[in-house]
Amino acid sequence: MCGIVAYLGKKPAQPILIEGLKRLEYRGYDSAGVGLINPDKIGIKIIKSSGRISVLEGLLPEANPKEVLGIGHTRWATHGEPNTINAHPHLDYTGKIAVVHNGIIENYSTLKTWLISKGCKFASETDTEVIANLIGYLYSGQDGKKTPNGDQNKFEWAVQRALNELVGTYGLAIICTDFPDMLIGAKKGSPLILGLGENEFIIASDAAAIVEHTTQAIYLADNEMVTISSKGFHTKTIDNVEIRKELKQIEFSLDAIELNGFAHYMLKEICEQPKALNMCLGGRLDARDGRVVLGGISKYWREITRAKRIIINACGTAWHAGLVGEYLFEQLARINTETQYASEFRYRNPIIEDDTIVIAISQSGETADTLAAVEQAKERGATTLGIVNVVGSTIARTTDTGVYLRVGPEIGVASTKAFTAQVAVLAMLAIELGRRRHLSSDEAKFYIEELAKIPAKIEKILTKSEQIKKIAEATCDRENWLFLGRGFNYPVALEGALKLKEISYIHAEGLPAAEMKHGPIALITEGMPAVFIATMCSQYSKIIGNIEEVRARGGRTIVVASEGDENIKQYADFLITVPDAPEELQPMLTVVPLQILAYHAAVLRGHDVDKPRNLAKSVTVE
Ligand code: GLU
Repeated sequence: MCGIVAYLGKKPAQPILIEGLKRLEYRGYDSAGVGLINPDKIGIKIIKSSGRISVLEGLLPEANPKEVLGIGHTRWATHGEPNTINAHPHLDYTGKIAVVHNGIIENYSTLKTWLISKGCKFASETDTEVIANLIGYLYSGQDGKKTPNGDQNKFEWAVQRALNELVGTYGLAIICTDFPDMLIGAKKGSPLILGLGENEFIIASDAAAIVEHTTQAIYLADNEMVTISSKGFHTKTIDNVEIRKELKQIEFSLDAIELNGFAHYMLKEICEQPKALNMCLGGRLDARDGRVVLGGISKYWREITRAKRIIINACGTAWHAGLVGEYLFEQLARINTETQYASEFRYRNPIIEDDTIVIAISQSGETADTLAAVEQAKERGATTLGIVNVVGSTIARTTDTGVYLRVGPEIGVASTKAFTAQVAVLAMLAIELGRRRHLSSDEAKFYIEELAKIPAKIEKILTKSEQIKKIAEATCDRENWLFLGRGFNYPVALEGALKLKEISYIHAEGLPAAEMKHGPIALITEGMPAVFIATMCSQYSKIIGNIEEVRARGGRTIVVASEGDENIKQYADFLITVPDAPEELQPMLTVVPLQILAYHAAVLRGHDVDKPRNLAKSVTVE
């Protein structure tokens, strides 16, 4: 969460920081700020404000060409309300050090008490200010240690000593008035990338803020830091051991992160799903031989095939995809599978045996809880497999093996194309695993052929956007909704409810349809919208029964059904049809109308779909 960007080069830093912050705004948007080194006055100019980047932009003076070093931040508050004082950068009590931070400092309270006892002053409620003050205190020499050993510069030395005292997570960019040509970055638990341009360096928490300037980058690992001057840079561990980092190519183009005429990223990404799924499936399906080819995990098939149990770990939308995976592995591969909330799994005492495979699903590959679950699983000896979109992300690097989604950057905070691709990857894994265990070649071929048809079927669903908008118009004034599905479409009901909650702020509950009668049925009042996923599947007649129960109590039914199903019409106040598919693969189709419904409901209610209240993309805090 939150976006960091920092620049050192020959150009005026201010516009580059603002441009970078705009590209990162989806990561956090409750307040923002920039800090610039002014070489004439030798001081740090800080401008910050609560609200969006556009508010900050309005406060900025004209860019000063001499200010070629600066740091910027767009915040997702964890400690202290999102007001101007708590916005980053934070300046230390001596006014020499400025810091932008992504993450949480867990021992901030102890450090703060200690620093106050030493005479440091605090202005904000943030944990971040502790970092600035700790560096400032150690830099000032007040603790009696005035200089580093050898030729290490004093700024880097003070930062290193401070980092060694911090418990928690950080992505940091730091500047110091005494070093107007020096920028320091450091990472632990939150992502940080260094872009290497021509005579310029950009630090950012994700590649979106870098690609406009360069595609050459270095990805810092945990407990690593980089010290940059206009002459070059060096990387070290926070224990001052020099390390060499590999130069990597950033894979995506600027085009992939532009709106390209769409009103919102979410809409763009919903509409991109046919293309995205084709990229995800491309080259991986061998329909002739009934096999799935997943290069990344080829060396691990022995372990995976022998596994007796799969545990899927994820959060939010990825957890819903994981739940579809649970049904898929059980059905197609006949393997015991359970899907866990990563935030719960990480603190449990899970039983993991040699033949347990732990799958972690995360769009960003940086989700803090999911990463912790992977670490816990590895510690206990499980083989870990990541299903991740962002190439080179921490989960991708931490898991033993993995499969990339290959759907390009997902910017919309409400995840859409990542969900369908996560399900597609899980389906591919289940088919191949099934083939290696008990699925016949004909069965595997059948599922592979059907999987290959999904993108074109989604294309067809997208043409119904106007019809779905009309349904949203008729229903979006209601504050309580139910989403109900059974079997493979039960996770879709959960995902449909989550989408509506996230962006339209309507209260919605997703349930296995049969569970309704065990309690939630009490909620149904006259006209309450109940969304049913009632496609042709093994439980079709059962779900019809559930629809009847809602109608008998005055609920209004919005039914997602299979094309050509005439019978269903009598049960639906509003009907949306989707092309037919084997029920195991239906979630990739049935979720699409629910994404579109949530989108239109949110727009009609006047909300900013891409920056929903209280949320942010890439949840890198616990
Ligand atoms: N914990 C810090 C704060 O609340 C950083 C939050 C962020 O990552 O945006 O200011």
